[in-house]
Amino acid sequence: MKSSILIIYTGGTIGMKQDPIDGSLRPYDFSQIMREVPELRKFAMKIDTYNFSPLIDSSDVEPSLWVTLANLIKEKYDEYDGFVILHGTDTMAYSASALSFMLEGLTKPVVFTGSQLPVGVPRTDGKENLISAVEIASARDSDFHARVPEVCIFFGSVLLRGNRSVKQSADSFDAFNSPDCPPLATAGIRIRYNPDVILKPASWKAPLEIFTDLDTRVSILKVHPGITPQIVKSVLLGEDIRAIILETYGSGNAPTKGWFLDILKEANSRGRIMVNVTQCRSGSVDMDIYATGQTLKACGVLSGGDITTEAALGKLFSLLGKCDDNQWVKDRFVNELCGEITKESFAF
Ligand code: ASP
Repeated sequence: MKSSILIIYTGGTIGMKQDPIDGSLRPYDFSQIMREVPELRKFAMKIDTYNFSPLIDSSDVEPSLWVTLANLIKEKYDEYDGFVILHGTDTMAYSASALSFMLEGLTKPVVFTGSQLPVGVPRTDGKENLISAVEIASARDSDFHARVPEVCIFFGSVLLRGNRSVKQSADSFDAFNSPDCPPLATAGIRIRYNPDVILKPASWKAPLEIFTDLDTRVSILKVHPGITPQIVKSVLLGEDIRAIILETYGSGNAPTKGWFLDILKEANSRGRIMVNVTQCRSGSVDMDIYATGQTLKACGVLSGGDITTEAALGKLFSLLGKCDDNQWVKDRFVNELCGEITKESFAF
């Protein structure tokens, strides 16, 4: 049976064109992308498109876009075998992470892609990325199940789990990587899937459930030498904050100065959720290695294991949206929900 794929175009460099007046890149309409990639017609499959309006540079992405995407995928779920989302690279890892927590029981691929150069320029990476993403979104195994029933990012030559991905380069064609999780597939002359890494749904028959109540009362504190009590107070104790992501050094270490710990303790006594994510590009938080980590633990800080900041944000938005009880959220946060952490790395 012929596969059917829905390409959802949200914006991003892939579909941009140079403004003749000021030279800046601006979105242009999707019909032109299809014209630039005639190769898509060679696939023996039905490819439909859905255009967002207005198209956006992904630095303007808000959680409302994730809600629109989740609703759209739910609405079209039975009609298509897979979904390709064209999205700017700047916040692609945030969007792919968030969607992975919002779509539960996924049995079909949701593949984000985009490009570093617009599809209309000669050296564009957009064509390869789009063509490979469509091929992956339609790939089936011998049981006719989707090969990659996950929210993922295809970019350069790798397919990565969405909630493990980070944008690693502003100008390389290999813009993304997932330092703590092997690629789900690599694309050379053929696409090689990595079935040991790809997640399978609990049931191929269960309906897709979407969660669109996101609670965004989360702040992020990146510790750094010279950080002041005023900054830490405003991020941890400011109004209307339910959870804080602490971006710490190395394996989860932070300053041990009295004033810093007092603010953490105050945030904890107010019931705020504090999670520890490393600033390092790879590796995991382990708060038992150093005294500084143990001190954080004693202040109520939870380990994020090897979760990325992007995934921690999406995970917290969705857990906080599901329940008003912060203890309930804490209990769920320290468990793996959809491949976002390496279980063994998760010392808490
Ligand atoms: N600023 C662009 C965006 O994120 C960059 C890109 O698409 O590569 O929409």
